[in-house]
Amino acid sequence: MTSPASSASYSGLRHLMVDLQLRARGIADERVLAAMERVPRHEFAAEQYREHAYEDHPLPIGEGQTISQPYIVAVMLQDLAVSPGDRVLEIGTGSGYVTALLAELAGMIVSVERHAALANSSTELLARMGYRNVSIVIGDGTQGFPQYAPYDAIIVSAAAPDVPRALLDQLAEGGRMVIPVGGDDSQQLRLIRMESGYRRTVFRDLCRFVPLLPGIGS
Ligand code: SAH
Repeated sequence: MTSPASSASYSGLRHLMVDLQLRARGIADERVLAAMERVPRHEFAAEQYREHAYEDHPLPIGEGQTISQPYIVAVMLQDLAVSPGDRVLEIGTGSGYVTALLAELAGMIVSVERHAALANSSTELLARMGYRNVSIVIGDGTQGFPQYAPYDAIIVSAAAPDVPRALLDQLAEGGRMVIPVGGDDSQQLRLIRMESGYRRTVFRDLCRFVPLLPGIGS
């Protein structure tokens, strides 16, 4: 737990992050901005990186994984355009930071993580923070989670060489998917909309994510 003094300074840093890294670069969705102003990003970082949690770069979270740079998180959430009643599938829970933001913005979140240690620690942290609309599942996210499909929105936080077929099949009519596609060195975010049974793809920012790997031990 952080002391009251450090919580206050973290909230000042968070406010600056929202103004300087997000608003100033064109993020305009007020619900996304408000959620990023509320969710304490430093609580999701590994202890030794907490004081860097509001800087303009990705953050290590253990198991060789990272939380994305705040701006990329905001771009993805803005494109995802979730409403309070939406059912959302997240692939790559990691620390649970994006999961917490989704829990603020949507109705029900299913999040799939292949690393049991990360799935367990994020489940515990999100429960401690009081989020009740989140289920974290250990498994291979390239298969999605058909039990609760279809989803109004799907967000993938690791890079795939191609969009996994199972995820497309689990996207609802009118649904949106945001996914980084590409190899280790160059990737591009894609926004895919399912409209009248057709997929429409918009190519967005270049980005760099850890790879989406097959599941382990589940
Ligand atoms: N959005 C997360 C960061 C995700 S990092 C956060 O806010 O912290 C990418 C995550 O995807 C890692 O935790 C990694 O273990 C996970 N991952 C990689 N391949 C996966 C797969 N096939 N299925 C599920 N999770 C996967």
